[in-house]
Amino acid sequence: MLAFILRGRMKIKFKLIATAAAGLEAVVGREIRNLGLECQVENGRVRFDGTVETIIETNLWLRAADRIKIVVGSFSAKTFEELFQGIFALDWENYLPLGAKFPIAKAKCVKSKLHNEPSVQAISKKAVVKKLQKHYARPEGVPLIENGAEFKIEVSILKDVATVLIDTTGFSLFKRGYRTEKGGAPIKENMAAAILLLSNWYPDKPLIDPTCGSGTFCIEAAMIGMNMAPGLHRHFAFEEWNWVDSDLVGRVRARALGQIKQDIQLDILGADIDARMVEIAKRNAEEAGVSEQIVFKQMRLQDLHTDKINGVIVSNPPYGERLLDDDAVTKLYQEMGQTFEPLKTWSKFILTSDEAFEAKFGSQADKKRKLYNGTLKVDLYQYFGQRVKRQID
Ligand code: SAH
Repeated sequence: MLAFILRGRMKIKFKLIATAAAGLEAVVGREIRNLGLECQVENGRVRFDGTVETIIETNLWLRAADRIKIVVGSFSAKTFEELFQGIFALDWENYLPLGAKFPIAKAKCVKSKLHNEPSVQAISKKAVVKKLQKHYARPEGVPLIENGAEFKIEVSILKDVATVLIDTTGFSLFKRGYRTEKGGAPIKENMAAAILLLSNWYPDKPLIDPTCGSGTFCIEAAMIGMNMAPGLHRHFAFEEWNWVDSDLVGRVRARALGQIKQDIQLDILGADIDARMVEIAKRNAEEAGVSEQIVFKQMRLQDLHTDKINGVIVSNPPYGERLLDDDAVTKLYQEMGQTFEPLKTWSKFILTSDEAFEAKFGSQADKKRKLYNGTLKVDLYQYFGQRVKRQID
């Protein structure tokens, strides 16, 4: 805290948002509440308040979010003059030290009078520069030197209301840092985690991904089961900022390390027809520190059988656009239906862009959820396992 005060008039309380892919906002909201914070779920984002420690914790712990951003301010802007004045009025001195790099990394205008995004970017930059020149008593007309830590600024104007944000994350949160190789069509790590959090899988149930590719579902499940923070292996933009106390970052990371359940027994199997992918999955699991919790093996999904009950199958099989031709996809989905059919107590969660999936698979999903794998519209087909009554002797 002392360092914090010494470093100047930096903020103590922040308005924050976690951005999320369409369809995953509620999952991110649940994760934020699990960290003990109140939040509001909106389209594409979840709003919450917090301290510097909150910024560190949410970046480190949120499995389904894309990024954590600071809301610097919000104001009405119908003209460039209003935009300039609105941005100039914000308390930039509380965020940007002298020497900071501060690109206006993104400008987005939707349903607004201001619609020329490059101009919005240029005007916004001028306004921040002018404010900092004034605050740090630098002469106008002499450009500020930007050779320090980077603060990426975003300006989005929706229905004539400008919202100005600073990204705290850096490269997106889906990049955990464990996936060194990915193979043909990997699912994003945060999407895989979100699907697991949406599913009825809990760490005491068996989990199988019969088309595991680079192992994303299995690795994310092991990390959930072990209570391992997903961001432990990576770096964040805020770690470069002078007002984020590196001792505090160290303490939050150390606390997360201490919370890992090393001795938990998980039952996670990943299989793929392609032996090369199995090797990649193993390497990624090792990199993530979860290899002891997962069995990976080369196997065709058609050969899957198990006597275990009440498990969960999660699969992101090949689909037309990405990996296979139509006939091969149809045949694979039919065989998938036949292979899974005897596993009555197992729940199945299958992610594909194929709108005819249910017909090919041979049964209708109990529930469907629309998601986006990158820009590709996909559906999560959810089949819930039959409950088995425990036998009473
Ligand atoms: N979710 C994975 C990507 C899966 S891509 C990831 O995050 O990396 C689909 C995978 O299905 C590919 O790796 C492919 O080799 C595998 N596959 C295709 N046909 C298969 C079959 N019959 N049995 C098992 N795996 C199969």
